[in-house]
Amino acid sequence: MITFYPGPSKVYDEVGQYLQEAFDSGVISANHRSTAFMQMLEGAIGNLKTKLNVPDDYEVYFVSSATECWEIIAESLISDGSLHIYNGAFGEKWMEYTQKLTGAARSFPFETNEDPKPNAGIMPSANEVICITHNETSNGTALTSEFLNTLRAQSDNIIAVDATSSMAGVILPWESADIWYGSVQKCFGLPAGMGVMIVSPKAVELAIAIGNRSHYNSLLFIRDNFLKFQTPYTPNTLGIYLMGRVMQQVAPIKTVARQTLERAQDWYSFLPENGYQLLVEYEAVRSETVMAVKDTKERIEAIKKAGLQEGIVLGNGYGEDKETSFRIANFPAISDIEIQTLKDFLVFFSSK
Ligand SMILES: *Cc1c(COP(=O)(O)O)cnc(C)c1O
Repeated sequence: MITFYPGPSKVYDEVGQYLQEAFDSGVISANHRSTAFMQMLEGAIGNLKTKLNVPDDYEVYFVSSATECWEIIAESLISDGSLHIYNGAFGEKWMEYTQKLTGAARSFPFETNEDPKPNAGIMPSANEVICITHNETSNGTALTSEFLNTLRAQSDNIIAVDATSSMAGVILPWESADIWYGSVQKCFGLPAGMGVMIVSPKAVELAIAIGNRSHYNSLLFIRDNFLKFQTPYTPNTLGIYLMGRVMQQVAPIKTVARQTLERAQDWYSFLPENGYQLLVEYEAVRSETVMAVKDTKERIEAIKKAGLQEGIVLGNGYGEDKETSFRIANFPAISDIEIQTLKDFLVFFSSK
């Protein structure tokens, strides 16, 4: 079975070997306050920062999921409200979770086929945290680096970015935001069960000023532990081991991102050429890591079913377009041969 599901998604082929290595090394039996663990955690963070080109002064924490980051941000970094700019189901969910926790989340929704254009009506007030979704996995759109850079230049507000389905697949403009987070089961090509949070010195300062330490996952509590290469709770040791090994193996992000872009450009010409209608018509906002195709409910059902019979898993639609779209992950762990297999199937199916 080959999978193009946009999360959990295909893991790197080498993960099988790394699992055995993790077992043989003994580190997955080690206590999480031991030197063996701390060295392993330090190595994993070091490899991640090097390969993804994360600025030296940004800190990296491993948490349980991207969803947990919604909670951490609401509790540890939002004191005077947040402004959520989104066009899809993940951005909306983030706003809803935050609203439940803070009661002070404002929304600025925009359309799938348009650029977000913050205007006078939605400009953030002084201490609002701006929350944006870099890659909206539900509909296959992405924010451009120009948008992020402009947003950064326009205000001094703390900016938090959900980059769950783009981190480790494309180049992220780290300095244009303060909090970035993602999950391992998307572009990292790792088994599900861990989140990655990357924070700027300015975000750390804000967390200190707010001083929230009342949750087991308060950012300051997480940070105290990570500064010693420990974790507040017993961590996903195997997940951290695999992160370290995969980040050692992968090419620098510049190289990975070039492959992502080339494959995306190829998909975006291949699909319409073969009779598939893209969900996102406006080219400038198309995601490089998640492609969405739209069709009637009947045809979407038929293609997913036919795919399964050929050993191919397509991603279901998500949110508003759940039944009238399917999604294709363009994540780095997927091989050229697998992509060719899917293309052959899509050509065959469209001729039916
Ligand atoms: C997958 C995804 C999430 C949720 O990730 P979890 O690891 O399941 O918590 C959040 N936001 C976006 C954009 C996603 O793609």
